[in-house]
Amino acid sequence: MSHDLPNDTGRRRFLGLAAGAGALAAAGLPGQSNAQVATKAKIVILGAGAAGTTLANRLVQRLDGAQITVVDGSKQHWYQPGFSLIAAGLKPQDYSVSRTDEWLPAGVTLKPENAAAIDPEARTVDLQSGETLSYDYLVVATGLVLDHDAIDGFSLDMVGENGIGALYAGPDYAARTWKAASKFIDEGGDGLFTRPATEMKCAGAPLKHTFLLDDLARKAGTRDKSHFTYAAPQQSLFGVPIVAEKVRMLFDQRKIGTGMQETLKSIEPGAKRAVFDTADGTVERAYDYIHVIPPQRAPEAVRQSGLSWADKWVDQGWVEVDKHSLRHRRYPEVFAVGDVAGVPKGKTAASVKWQVPVVEEHLVAQIAGDTTDASYNGYTSCPMITQVGRAMLIEFDYNNDLVPSFPGIIAPLQELWISWLMKEVALKPTYNAMLRGKA
Ligand SMILES: Cc1cc2nc3c(=O)[nH]c(=O)nc-3n(C[C@H](O)[C@H](O)[C@H](O)COP(=O)(O)OP(=O)(O)OC[C@H]3O[C@@H](n4cnc5c(N)ncnc54)[C@H](O)[C@@H]3O)c2cc1C
Repeated sequence: MSHDLPNDTGRRRFLGLAAGAGALAAAGLPGQSNAQVATKAKIVILGAGAAGTTLANRLVQRLDGAQITVVDGSKQHWYQPGFSLIAAGLKPQDYSVSRTDEWLPAGVTLKPENAAAIDPEARTVDLQSGETLSYDYLVVATGLVLDHDAIDGFSLDMVGENGIGALYAGPDYAARTWKAASKFIDEGGDGLFTRPATEMKCAGAPLKHTFLLDDLARKAGTRDKSHFTYAAPQQSLFGVPIVAEKVRMLFDQRKIGTGMQETLKSIEPGAKRAVFDTADGTVERAYDYIHVIPPQRAPEAVRQSGLSWADKWVDQGWVEVDKHSLRHRRYPEVFAVGDVAGVPKGKTAASVKWQVPVVEEHLVAQIAGDTTDASYNGYTSCPMITQVGRAMLIEFDYNNDLVPSFPGIIAPLQELWISWLMKEVALKPTYNAMLRGKA
């Protein structure tokens, strides 16, 4: 078996679907064969978000007789790419919300509680209720947690008031963020836009929020009353140098200032002041609006399991997997997929789209006593909104090479309406098709 995913054909198929060519999905699922493998294997999937749900839907089609258990304490499934749109007043709060169980296929058991502990030596998972599940194969797909407590002076109950936004925290917080952001757009003042020093999901989202508020202020005719500053711990504005340069040019054009190598440490909501750590000590900045994105880490149960990298991302705890097979480097019956996987790129739903078939191939091959060279190449995609109605469709791999799905048709570094459509209109149906295992 050999499936090097994603390949050019596969990417076009995915984005072709995103553009509305849904019939392509019926032509065959990437990396899937039709033959089912008979097995009594016990497979536990931790997390029913983008990655866990997609994998569950695909595995039931590949395996006959497997006992598949999905563990997730959240009743709601969140379509997180929608949060950026909710926080800009472009979509209502319920745009991103559905029920976790409505996406899961017949033939899997949902345990509606979180994993409390994982013991990879004993091959068991303890649930919060005290129940213990044993497994033959484990897939960690828990996503990540937002460490809001790491920002002194900040708490989630502040979001929406006194110029504080935090759109990552969920659909309700995204809606509350819009409440604070729209006041800032109306009244002007100092806007501060931050991002954390850790790895994060959708690293383009902090930029999107900045660009969208800049554009909305221009459209409202109030932009000259405000001053925008993007303050980030990194040295550059994006991890891919050519994209960073493009963002730098757009920031210059739009008079968005920067404070690079500044890490948000604390806020003083009463005084409307934020304190940043820098190499030369702390820097204080006044704000009328601040957007907080906190450090991001693997959930505690994962961090305590012994499955994390010991010598990389030690404060974050991402699972120690091979970056191509997504198989654990010390426990071959364990995989990690999605945001929790300790790989150098990814952490987008588009990455999930290409990671899941790789995990599926390895898992099914292992059960069948076979091998596969299915490989994830780091594909990550970010429809970077630069204004309402315009976006850049940025796609790249582990090598930071741009890997456009439509070379010659959709230029990655141009602000295009078609790329906006991908994000605003087509991405959600595509995401939903992915969840069902059909894209
Ligand atoms: C603001 C924002 C904008 C984004 N924009 C885009 C975009 O434009 N394009 C794109 O491709 N991606 C985007 N993303 C990223 C994308 O949403 C994530 O990368 C994707 O959801 C990752 O899937 P996942 O399954 O790993 O995690 P999630 O979808 O977060 O699911 C994780 C699941 O695990 C569960 N869980 C947590 N802890 C436990 C536990 N202990 N036991 C069991 N279950 C547990 C959770 O309840 C959750 O259901 C965006 C994200 C955000 C926040």
